[in-house]
Amino acid sequence: MIPVKIFCACGQKYAFEVEPTEGAMPVTVNCPVCNRDGTEQANRHLAKILKGKTQPLPPPSVNTLLNSVQSSLAPHLIEALKDAVVQELAAQRRELLAGQQAAAAELTELARRLEAVQTPMLERLRTYEERIGELEQDLADQSKENRELLKLKIEMLREKIEAERTASRRVNFN
Ligand SMILES: [Zn+2]
Repeated sequence: MIPVKIFCACGQKYAFEVEPTEGAMPVTVNCPVCNRDGTEQANRHLAKILKGKTQPLPPPSVNTLLNSVQSSLAPHLIEALKDAVVQELAAQRRELLAGQQAAAAELTELARRLEAVQTPMLERLRTYEERIGELEQDLADQSKENRELLKLKIEMLREKIEAERTASRRVNFN
């Protein structure tokens, strides 16, 4: 709806709102006082207003554009980055957990193999020590992420050796 003001030749002013049809008055209007046809004047008024509305806005300056991009996208990007970091950490934790489980399984398998063939304890200990030696060699070559896992495996093997020794001491005391 476009507000239209008519200043009639008789001196009467009148106003109304209209929804133009193809940019012009859909019906004729007449002065409420002298009944003079005001349609032509209303059409000129509508043409002026509609021309102003369809004129393109002056292009925003580059700085205005950049500021609006920064202010609208920066928080979104920061959130996306935070999400990515959180997901990366979660993935690393999952990997480490999976690695811990794999390391425990590997150690269990090693112990099971040694016990299955009834390897003498000293030989078992030597096997564990050899495995630690291999892991320590790997440790020197590995990236930081893998080092954590290798340290963990070595720690597990040391605990296993400690457990074996404790068990053997208990046997000897009996
Ligand atoms: Zn009039």
